[in-house]
Amino acid sequence: MASHALLSPSSSHRWLVCTPAPRLEATLPEPKRNPSAFDFSGEGTLCHSMSEAKLRFQLDQISADEFNIEMDLCKANSLYSDELEAAADNYVVYVRSQIGSEDQVFIEQKLDLTEYVIEAFGSADCVIISPTSIRVLDLKAGRGVPVFAESNSQLKLYALGAYEKFKDQFPNIKNITWTIVQPRLNSISSESTTIDKLVDWGKNFVAKKAKLAWVGTGQFVAGEHCGWCRAKSICRERAEYNTSLAKLEFRDPPLLSDDELAEVLDKAQGLRSWAGDVEEFVLNRAVETGEVPTGYKLAKSVTHRKVIDVMLASEVLMSKGIPKNEIWEAPKMRSIANLEKLAGKGQIVSWLGDLIQRPEGQPKLVRDSANTAKDDFQ
Ligand code: SF4
Repeated sequence: MASHALLSPSSSHRWLVCTPAPRLEATLPEPKRNPSAFDFSGEGTLCHSMSEAKLRFQLDQISADEFNIEMDLCKANSLYSDELEAAADNYVVYVRSQIGSEDQVFIEQKLDLTEYVIEAFGSADCVIISPTSIRVLDLKAGRGVPVFAESNSQLKLYALGAYEKFKDQFPNIKNITWTIVQPRLNSISSESTTIDKLVDWGKNFVAKKAKLAWVGTGQFVAGEHCGWCRAKSICRERAEYNTSLAKLEFRDPPLLSDDELAEVLDKAQGLRSWAGDVEEFVLNRAVETGEVPTGYKLAKSVTHRKVIDVMLASEVLMSKGIPKNEIWEAPKMRSIANLEKLAGKGQIVSWLGDLIQRPEGQPKLVRDSANTAKDDFQ
C-alpha cells in the first residue's frame, strides 16, 4: 500500500536529509493514537472528499446525483462543519480560477514515483495541463502549521510523478509549477521550474538518496525534520545535536552580548522541542510498560477535592444550619477548605459524604529520592 511505503513523498523531507531514518523507524513500534485526541487526519480526508466532489461536479466529471450522494455522505460525517466545507469551497474557487480555456484538468491522480524512488507512489489533488506546462495543486486542510510550496520535496515529487504520468500524452511540456493551497490559513504558495531541472533533481539527487535510504545507509543528520521521526525521542544523533547546541562556547566578558543572547534564543526552540519529545516518550513507556529510568518513579499529579453536585451539597449544608451566604461566594460555592472552617473538624466531609470526590491525578515521572539517595551513598 502506498501509504505504508518505506519512502513516502510526505516523509521525503526527512529521508532526503537523514537517509538511515526510514529503516531505523521501521524497527520501532507505530506511535499509539490518543483516542480522545481530535482526528485531524480524518478532518483533512473529509475536506479532500468535499473539494473533490465539488470540483468534479463543477467540471462536469460527475452528475448532480453522484454529487449529492457524495456530499450527503460528507455531511453525515461527525467531523463535518460549515467552516470545513467553506475551506473546501475556497480551494475549489482558487483551482477553477487557474484553469485556462485550453487546459485539461485531472483530479485525484495516482502518481507512480518508482522511476526515482523504490516502491513510492503519491496522489495529486489536482493536475492542470496547459499546452506547454503542468500545474500540480495540493490542498492542505490544516489550520495549525502553515505549509509552503517553496523547496517542498513532497510537492516536487508529486510534480515529478505528474510529469512522468503525462509526458507521453503531452510531449510539449517544458515547465512545471506546484502549488499548496491552505484555505483555513488563507495561504497559497507556488514554486516553478523547468522540466529539465526537475528531472535532473529527480535523477541526480532524489534517486541517489532514495537508494541509500532503501538500504538504510548514509549519515544520520539531525535538524528540524526530526520532529515527525518515529525515533525522535531516543535517537542518539538528535540527542547529540541538541546537547551540542547547549554547549555554546561563550567567552569573556562575563556578561552575554546581544548576539550571544540571540544565539541562545535560536537554539532554545530546538532544545525545548527535543526535551518535550523525550519526556513524552519516557512517560508513555512508563505508563504502558512500567519501565522507568534509573532514579525516577511513576507518580500521580496532586488533584483538589471537588463537590460533584453543588446544589445538592448546598441543601445538605443548609439543612445542617449553615447559612446560604456562608456557603456561596456568588456565583460559586466556596472551596471545600473554606467550607471546613464553618463547622467542627471533619464535619463538612462527613455531611457531604460521596458528594465530595477527588479526581484521579495524571501520571507523571518524579525523582525517586529514596533510590537516588541510596545510589549516592553506594
Ligand atoms: S531523529 Fe532525526 S537524526 Fe534521528 S533518525 Fe530521525 S531524522 Fe534522523
